[in-house]
Amino acid sequence: MPGAIVVGAGIAGLTTALALASRGWSVRVHERADGLDPVGAGIQLSPNALDVLDRLGVAIGSVGVAADSVVLRDGPSGRRIATVPVESSDGRGYRVLHRADLQRVLLDAVRSAPGIAMHLGRTFASLGDGSSGIRAVFETAAGPVHDEADLLIAADGVRSAVASHFRLQPPRPSGAVALRYSSTADPGESPSAAIEAWLGARRHAVRYRIDEAGRENIVIIVPESDPTLGPVLGWDPRLAASIERARPLGSWPLSTVEPRWRAPGHRPVAFVGDAAHAMLPYAAQGAAMAIEDAFVLAACLGASPSRAKALARYEALRAPRLGKVLQRVAFHRRVYHLPRPLSLARDAALALRSPASLRRDLAWLYDWRAEDGASISEI
Ligand SMILES: Cc1cc2nc3c(=O)[nH]c(=O)nc-3n(C[C@H](O)[C@H](O)[C@H](O)COP(=O)(O)OP(=O)(O)OC[C@H]3O[C@@H](n4cnc5c(N)ncnc54)[C@H](O)[C@@H]3O)c2cc1C
Repeated sequence: MPGAIVVGAGIAGLTTALALASRGWSVRVHERADGLDPVGAGIQLSPNALDVLDRLGVAIGSVGVAADSVVLRDGPSGRRIATVPVESSDGRGYRVLHRADLQRVLLDAVRSAPGIAMHLGRTFASLGDGSSGIRAVFETAAGPVHDEADLLIAADGVRSAVASHFRLQPPRPSGAVALRYSSTADPGESPSAAIEAWLGARRHAVRYRIDEAGRENIVIIVPESDPTLGPVLGWDPRLAASIERARPLGSWPLSTVEPRWRAPGHRPVAFVGDAAHAMLPYAAQGAAMAIEDAFVLAACLGASPSRAKALARYEALRAPRLGKVLQRVAFHRRVYHLPRPLSLARDAALALRSPASLRRDLAWLYDWRAEDGASISEI
């Protein structure tokens, strides 16, 4: 049975462990934290990610709430600019939930999957060649321990220590900061299945419910040069009231990672999730891409006895997809933060588009399905 070491037990690491185990791998996940605490805030899961979770048997169905659209609003006035439906063409839904709830269902699936062992309190320190492939050293409270396997998967996030080991490019500050809040829905407002985004000059805010009890997630992207709410509290009174009711969760300076998929020198090391391609949250696709990576990597490894070929195929399949997502992120960054009068031209152009035509713009993203057939079996 082939064996893999997964470094990091975030969304990427846990999904990769499940995807590999489903193809008969023995997996050991090594996580730096001593406990998997329910950290983070809200997360959106688009149909492309939900399809993968479904195939891996992760029971996400009743976690969080279903969302049907993104409603774009002018920040200062609250005026509706456009509605973008978020279901896929085949009717697969879109869910919004707390990251901790996603991590919990992934952990439940990991615990009941045969062939996955979890090791907490282990910090990746270094790696070298092993008798069967790769040998990694982890720091623990009791001193260093090592592990050997055919393959190592770096799922250790934006500040990946595995990437540093290979002297790959460090994360790049983006100039943007995310201010995050946990709020409660206004009992006077009827429950909405929409994700709302308020757009303004150099800032935008996103709000959505994450459970039936009316817990709300709010994230406001602001410039690093002025990492405050600034004018946002004077925007749409509905948004301002939500923020006033909210508990601040802190601020996240946002960094990005130039995509990388495997280690240099044909070492049996692959990168997934933020360790591979941390991106700005403007298209809500960071975790979704981590989930796609996991499935495609496992499918490539399952389709080829040659690890080197499988990793090359993984890169060949993921790089163009990521490139397209990053273009979309850059597009949103430009158009969401336009100052007046440019924003008025944007709003007028969007007002001419029907919801169906706006949805068609995103079909390539949401309709993606984790095909383990044609493209992967060509190896
Ligand atoms: C404001 C904001 C909003 C977002 N909204 C969305 C959204 O709506 N939809 C979406 O899809 N994505 C969203 N994202 C992105 C998403 O949160 C991330 O892309 C995703 O969580 C990354 O998961 P990961 O497992 O790759 O990394 P992480 O969650 O960072 O996990 C890495 C794990 O590795 C461990 N680790 C680190 N170093 C070591 C080491 N040396 N040794 C051992 N273990 C180690 C860490 O403790 C951690 O558990 C958002 C991000 C932000 C900042």
